[in-house]
Amino acid sequence: MFLTFEGIDGSGKSTQCKRLAEALSARGLEPVLTREPGGSKGAEEIRALVLEGDPDRWSAETELLLFTAARRDHLERLIAPSVDAGKIVICDRFADSTRMYQGLSRGDLRATVDELHALMIGREPDLTILLDMDPEIGLARAKGRQGHEERFEDMGLELQQKMRAGFLALADEFSDRFVVINGNQSADQVAEEVLAATLKALA
Ligand code: C5P
Repeated sequence: MFLTFEGIDGSGKSTQCKRLAEALSARGLEPVLTREPGGSKGAEEIRALVLEGDPDRWSAETELLLFTAARRDHLERLIAPSVDAGKIVICDRFADSTRMYQGLSRGDLRATVDELHALMIGREPDLTILLDMDPEIGLARAKGRQGHEERFEDMGLELQQKMRAGFLALADEFSDRFVVINGNQSADQVAEEVLAATLKALA
């Protein structure tokens, strides 16, 4: 099974990915925990190229190409072989983040994002968990971690609100695979709901 987590910066994705991996391991399953941008050697190198240094170095179009290249490498080398071997792959962000960041917030590129996805990726997760989070809280959390590659242009409240609405619209568009969980609850409560949604999808 291929499972992804999505949500705005500071929505708790990384914490919940780890907690789910631990909960599945405790049940004797062998989850593969990975992330985007990154997840394979080449893709992590591309991540550093895009996220470290001058945020205006790349245009939105070039950034889209770089992240698509990173995703292709990640898919070929880690995700597809692991899913094909029957493992549960848990990925912190995937193509839905590109639909939002490169498709919506950095430029009006959604149609191009979709074309490139169809051409070069062509795979959707079996389950996507959207951690829906109050943008103000998410922003405060993300700002508290500056130095962790959070991008300056992603730091405005208005943009975070637009992203939250965008993710919810995406959950409607792909309602067959999205589960929306209230990320404003305690981490324990969120983890419980994430595990329940995962076990349901696995059954
Ligand atoms: O999720 P994570 O904190 O690792 O993401 C790092 C940064 O990359 C975040 O600021 C996120 O907004 C940005 N990002 C992006 N385009 C993507 C995925 C993430 O700009 N497709």
